[in-house]
Amino acid sequence: VNELALIDRIRRRIPAARRSGITVGIGDDCAVFRPSGAKEDLLFTTDMVIEDVHFRRATHPPSAVGHRVLARGLSDIAAMGGEPRFCLLSLALAPWVDRKWLDAFYRGLLRLAARTECMLAGGDIARAGKVTCDIVVCGSVPRGRAILRSGAREGDGIYVSGALGGSALGLEKGRGAAWKHHLRPEPRLALGRFVRERLRATSAMDLSDGLSIDLHRLCLASGVSAVLERDPPAFRGASLEHALHGGEDYELLFTVKRRTIVPEHWLDFPLTRIGAIRKGSPGRVELHGRTLDPLGWDHFRAH
Ligand SMILES: [Mg+2]
Repeated sequence: VNELALIDRIRRRIPAARRSGITVGIGDDCAVFRPSGAKEDLLFTTDMVIEDVHFRRATHPPSAVGHRVLARGLSDIAAMGGEPRFCLLSLALAPWVDRKWLDAFYRGLLRLAARTECMLAGGDIARAGKVTCDIVVCGSVPRGRAILRSGAREGDGIYVSGALGGSALGLEKGRGAAWKHHLRPEPRLALGRFVRERLRATSAMDLSDGLSIDLHRLCLASGVSAVLERDPPAFRGASLEHALHGGEDYELLFTVKRRTIVPEHWLDFPLTRIGAIRKGSPGRVELHGRTLDPLGWDHFRAH
């Protein structure tokens, strides 16, 4: 089953519900909820992390698993330019899980939660054949200011933060700087706010599944196409293939108006212009005069 097609099928079956307070539903990094009369909109995102799908007991330290569970959700909050508020974690434990594993898992999760002021506010614990973590993260953003995927327009510049392909390379090598990057991705929360407040980004999303498929999704949501003017910046040792299609880097992909001046660095983060938004077949991404297939993470998993 194709994930994009499945999401579309679900979305088409949902009736409009004005009373829900939802201003942005399925299809962006977060759902946006507008409490009546409030100065802020609330952002909600949910993610699953499953043993032998997203991590392996033999290779991933439990504290890194806990870190990554929360980092994925925080990265979606960053993608909207928001600030984290709280999270809810439901956890199914496999028979092999002992107290030591569980303590380290929560240590990894709660350290990141404390550092980003994202309080663990509740959840559920159950048993299952494999460890399954299901997290909901709530964030906030000034009313009407969430950066959406759907705002990119012809002529906008396309930018990425950092270097890409490190997580995919790390998974292959299982050691070194790339492996560390894979184990402990850092959600770009401060950068997301900078991109919203100072650069007035027209659209944004986080790179969770790979540049080729994520840029394709952004273009689909905005009804535009994209031309890549250069190869994306690659993590040290990563190939162009890693940088174009590797997932789980959790860098930010964003667009700004043509005249917006974007610094080459913000704090520690390189910000690199990789292309421009064009009119044309919605979702199409072009590189070196050819269509770039939206392969993304599944492409690597299949290998
Ligand atoms: Mg996302």
